[in-house]
Amino acid sequence: MKLLVTGAAGFIGANFVHYWNHKYPKDEIRVIDSLTYAGNIENLAPVIKKIKFIEADINDRPKVSQAMKGVDTVVHFAAESHVDRSIFDPSRYWQTNVHGTVTLLEEAHKLGIPRFHHISTDEVYGELPLLSSEKFNEKTPYSPRPDNLYALSKAEADKLVLDFYKKTDMFTTISNCSNNYGPYQFPEKFMPIVIANLIDGIQVPIHGDGRNVRDWIHTKDHAYAIDLILQKGKKGQTYLIGSDNDRDNNYIAEKIVSIYGEDAGKIRHVPDRHSNDRRYAIDATKIIQELGWKPEIGRENFDDGLKETIDWYKNNQDWWRPLLKRRAVISDEDKIVSAFITLDRETGKTKFIFGKLEEKEGIKIPKSDLKEHFVEANIVRYEMVMKNLASKKWYQNSLDNIKDEIKALAISPATFGYVEDLSSHEDKIGEDTLLKLVKIDHASPEFGIYGIATWFVVENSKGERRSEGYYSWGWGPKSGAKLLVLIRRNGEITHFAFQREGKFPTGSIEYNLAGGFPRLNESVLNFILRSLKKDLGLNVHNPNITLNEIISLGRVAPDSGMTNNHPNLYAVIVDFGRGIYPEVQTGEKLEENEGIVLWPVGEVSEIVSKCDDSYFLSAMSRLTLSGIYTINFSTNNKKND
Ligand code: NAD
Repeated sequence: MKLLVTGAAGFIGANFVHYWNHKYPKDEIRVIDSLTYAGNIENLAPVIKKIKFIEADINDRPKVSQAMKGVDTVVHFAAESHVDRSIFDPSRYWQTNVHGTVTLLEEAHKLGIPRFHHISTDEVYGELPLLSSEKFNEKTPYSPRPDNLYALSKAEADKLVLDFYKKTDMFTTISNCSNNYGPYQFPEKFMPIVIANLIDGIQVPIHGDGRNVRDWIHTKDHAYAIDLILQKGKKGQTYLIGSDNDRDNNYIAEKIVSIYGEDAGKIRHVPDRHSNDRRYAIDATKIIQELGWKPEIGRENFDDGLKETIDWYKNNQDWWRPLLKRRAVISDEDKIVSAFITLDRETGKTKFIFGKLEEKEGIKIPKSDLKEHFVEANIVRYEMVMKNLASKKWYQNSLDNIKDEIKALAISPATFGYVEDLSSHEDKIGEDTLLKLVKIDHASPEFGIYGIATWFVVENSKGERRSEGYYSWGWGPKSGAKLLVLIRRNGEITHFAFQREGKFPTGSIEYNLAGGFPRLNESVLNFILRSLKKDLGLNVHNPNITLNEIISLGRVAPDSGMTNNHPNLYAVIVDFGRGIYPEVQTGEKLEENEGIVLWPVGEVSEIVSKCDDSYFLSAMSRLTLSGIYTINFSTNNKKND
């Protein structure tokens, strides 16, 4: 066979290449990988002389096409794979996981590649209840968690592979696998953290109550399953892979700690992380019965698999230690501020640490391949949205002028999110049927955000009709973000920074978090910098002001039902000295002026009781309860500090 393997400088891809090279030494293997923070050419060191490595992005068509020439099989692993990181840089997840998959499919089709295998995850099915014996199988409907962009983007990619197969009849297969373990896993994932912390005498963190269940499979068993799919899998089919080895995190941590020879006192529970699904479990009957797969390590030899994995990390410290220092870099449009995404070993959580880019020489800034024109740049997403829309009965029944209006809104980046949201509207509200859309009202742009009211005609079971309104943000429900800004001086958080303004429509004075609605595909960093400047007068280009850290607090649905508004919340920590912020109010004259306010954290109870802004209250409670960041609320700053 001549294989092109994408993403093989990552964890599972590298293990697959080792497996394949060992079993089929005569086969030709090409690897395409853009070496993101998760990619590591060292993972391929033992086989590097035998394979052809092409450093390129899977969206780089000429390079992809060149790499594919003459191969008979594409195995597609490349992905942005870390859930925590996906919350921070959403556009990249979409670009690689969705757009990249389509680029590969299209190029493979042009070249007539005989087989295309797409690697996916069980996260596309959402989560299972903790106390149930239910498992996912090939018929389980997709239900990725809405705040897990990794799962959403993988689900979208899977659907595109299936659509592509139906449209072109190209030989495609998909596998959705459970949690992998084994050598070469980036040391920010659960098992490597546990082992690396034990080696370094650091306590082992467990998120939440530790009862989250995953179906653990060794990479060798996964590679064997893919091998069988490539040899015997049927065209257009999906295969679920899991070794019937569902265990909770407490079990895994205790087992590793005991195999390592330590006692359970080494384990420490820390507050949970976001998007931590409760339980995944796989029913692998199809691949077992149809392709004769049987895991070699599986559940029966799990202890041996763990021992081997622990030994591998003990013996390959030169491999993982440098990775702990590796930091994913993103930068703003002006290439002035950079963000480092890194792991906090004590809590096992991802941290975002900021710096000024000029100070960090030699940093490779990832180039975005987004083109100027919105529809061209988002063609896959655009086509999917228009296809979904066309399948809705209420859309089909709507008048042509309404359809034309919706189409016009779809080609503008400022309102595409609205159309995307409409395209996922079911034909029903509860028991009643949405008959058609009759009117679209636009809010005045002077409000600064693009608000749209949509009027549907709805019919109940008695045939009675009524009008139902639904309010949307033009950028769409996944676009918004709000910032809880914390001011830090001399290493200590001393103030919150708010906007104080008259609330529409009540006219009362409110304390608002900074933020609003960013452009589609804009990275969160640009949005944050702009909001800090526009809403709070904080210009991080000023050498005395440093954006220090960002903590993602997940999405909230403050008024679900009435609108599509589900913004992401972030806590942002900004460092600066005294005197830099002279014009702002500092908490006095509460009920009077509009403007920027610095509120002392020591007086948090007062602001919590005064402020009825649901974003602020949610952000505060998530930040303090998550334990990601500790604020000393007893800090006794005077209001006029
Ligand atoms: P990983 O993050 O370790 O590796 C991903 C690799 O893809 C890296 O080498 C990275 O450099 C490369 N890559 C990322 N973006 C790219 C781009 N635009 N162009 C070219 N290369 C790019 O991930 P992993 O854990 O090895 O996962 C591999 C695949 O398996 C993914 O598709 C993932 O969804 C799937 N999967 C993973 C698990 C798991 O437990 N880790 C379980 C089921 C499925």
